[in-house]
Amino acid sequence: MHYQDAPEQTAASSVAAGIVNPITGRRFVKSWRIDELLPEARALYGELASLLGVKLWHDLPLVRTLFNRGDENDWLARSADAGYATYLDDHPPLGRIPDITQPAFAYAGVRHSARVDVSLLVSTFRDLIAAENRLIARAVDYARLPQDYDRIIFCEGWRSRFNPYFAFLPSGGNKGEVLYVTTEQATLDRLFKHRVFLVPQAEHEYWVGATSQNNFTDDTPTPTARQYLTDRLREVLTVPFTVTDHRSAIRPTVRDRRMVIGRHPDQPRLYIFNGLGTKGASLAPLGSRWLLDLLEHGQDPPPEVDVRRWSAGAG
Ligand SMILES: Cc1cc2nc3c(=O)[nH]c(=O)nc-3n(C[C@H](O)[C@H](O)[C@H](O)COP(=O)(O)OP(=O)(O)OC[C@H]3O[C@@H](n4cnc5c(N)ncnc54)[C@H](O)[C@@H]3O)c2cc1C
Repeated sequence: MHYQDAPEQTAASSVAAGIVNPITGRRFVKSWRIDELLPEARALYGELASLLGVKLWHDLPLVRTLFNRGDENDWLARSADAGYATYLDDHPPLGRIPDITQPAFAYAGVRHSARVDVSLLVSTFRDLIAAENRLIARAVDYARLPQDYDRIIFCEGWRSRFNPYFAFLPSGGNKGEVLYVTTEQATLDRLFKHRVFLVPQAEHEYWVGATSQNNFTDDTPTPTARQYLTDRLREVLTVPFTVTDHRSAIRPTVRDRRMVIGRHPDQPRLYIFNGLGTKGASLAPLGSRWLLDLLEHGQDPPPEVDVRRWSAGAG
């Protein structure tokens, strides 16, 4: 198998924090199929870690700020739901949070959360396939697809909107910007969600993000987002910090916010795996199993992720 990747393009995977968060949004809803996604993710990242000789999966509890009584009531209502019991922690240990952040109205904990080092995964995997001469480091020329492969699987992130073979997909894109920050004092020892996420990277470093913008003209960092993220950080941190980097990329989104997996409607050699949106770290392992089941056993993926939900009538 060969891989083709355009080295000059920014990949969402190289900017993502890799947060795996089973409970999301203001209403504290369980992420789609999270009970199936988690074991699949643990297993696959474990296998990849052995193959690549790096640690990819970091179990990290998540603490969320509850800003007011309304948030707290919503949280407690969820806590009463049996399907949520394994994920919610009403009295989470706060670790170093009180040492370096403003006190909050209340805190809530999410269990089975984690951080996947997605950018390390991509860079070490790239090194491996390059060393094996299996990496073609240039953009795919759609007018001249190679003829000597049985199958071509397009995993192009948000740029799949430029792929003429899958033009029938309602592909969007959502721009996200992040800051990398250091503090003199040791940083957090868990994931912390205030208005933005704080994600520990190393002893004195963390990732702060992210912004979310459906309308964008390019994928480069903007002063407005830098200011926004710095302001959010100033609201919560009680210790001085230094911004060491500011990065941005585009998330690959699809109108119905589900992955896109499957075979082209009338070009049986062409496949797609896309639409990982804001949750690639947790979705990709189960998604890739579904893709493999299709490639090896002809087994269709679940209809809600099958590319054919958009291709009816397309040719
Ligand atoms: C700021 C930010 C924060 C995020 N945080 C998280 C998070 O905490 N947790 C989480 O789960 N997800 C997060 N995400 C989302 C996550 O990054 C994506 O879901 C995931 O990385 C998408 O992976 P992908 O491989 O589909 O796309 P990408 O990572 O964008 O990769 C696409 C690749 O295709 C290549 N390519 C495209 N077109 C061509 C072509 N014509 N020829 C050759 N190569 C091509 C590109 O060069 C690129 O390398 C975040 C995203 C952003 C932007």
